[in-house]
Amino acid sequence: MSSESVITDLVSIIKDAREHLNYLNELGVTNVETGVQSGVSPNKAGALESTNIAAAQAAATISRGTRQSVTAPPQDMLFGDIAAPPPPIIEKSFESFEQIWSDVGDCTRCPLHQGRINIVHTEGNRHARLMFVGEAPGADEDAQARPFVGRAGQLLTKIIESIGFKREDVLIGNVNRCRPPGNRPPTLEEASMCQPFLLREIAAVQPEVIVVLGNTAMRNLLDIKQGITKVRGQFQDYHGVKVMPTFHPAYLLRDPSKKKETWEDLKKVRDYLETTPRRQS
Ligand code: SF4
Repeated sequence: MSSESVITDLVSIIKDAREHLNYLNELGVTNVETGVQSGVSPNKAGALESTNIAAAQAAATISRGTRQSVTAPPQDMLFGDIAAPPPPIIEKSFESFEQIWSDVGDCTRCPLHQGRINIVHTEGNRHARLMFVGEAPGADEDAQARPFVGRAGQLLTKIIESIGFKREDVLIGNVNRCRPPGNRPPTLEEASMCQPFLLREIAAVQPEVIVVLGNTAMRNLLDIKQGITKVRGQFQDYHGVKVMPTFHPAYLLRDPSKKKETWEDLKKVRDYLETTPRRQS
């Protein structure tokens, strides 16, 4: 390798490192840890929660033409001192997103269709290990028919990059696909009408971790009563998929002091994925 190409590579590495530090600064991160943690902490092992309840919920809620089936809850398996990813409860589906979206059609299943310009489908890597789910599209997303493209979306992109992923590496979607009037939170009933499409996408991709963004998305997806402040940072279960609740990027724009807590939550996700062998599909 010539000295010129070595210098070019070094300049590129320094530029990348500086950009990464800028992301972290923007997120309010001051204490950067590096390296992969070995083994699994008791917390992480404990976070592989019992899935009996999820299996029962799945059986009760998978409906309206979803094609997955629900299998027995997983047993943890160990490869040396690293926990293997639990087998999925939702069996792998071989539907394409296009088939699922064709079933969504010009959907009028819930009242949110009345004010939308576009239906905003999930986008990103269809082999992703990591998925982000918000509550519903906003004005920018509705106009562009893409999830998380406004200011909050730009911050989400930086959050994704702060844990070593690119936006195109992950999957990004919402519980509801149509913009609520006045950006009000979608109701539980509206969420339940739209959720089967999300479940079908999850069955097709089988992400290993879902980060759920904000109170409304968390409550509508997981159907739990506690608020995001209490539950954030603790892995939950969604039909056998690990879910990490954290603050919505729009909330972080209003209250930047919460970025540090979001960073702590995302580090748990990063550590889980780094210490868990990739699941074979
Ligand atoms: S939010 Fe979902 S269920 Fe409601 S109209 Fe839109 S696509 Fe249909």
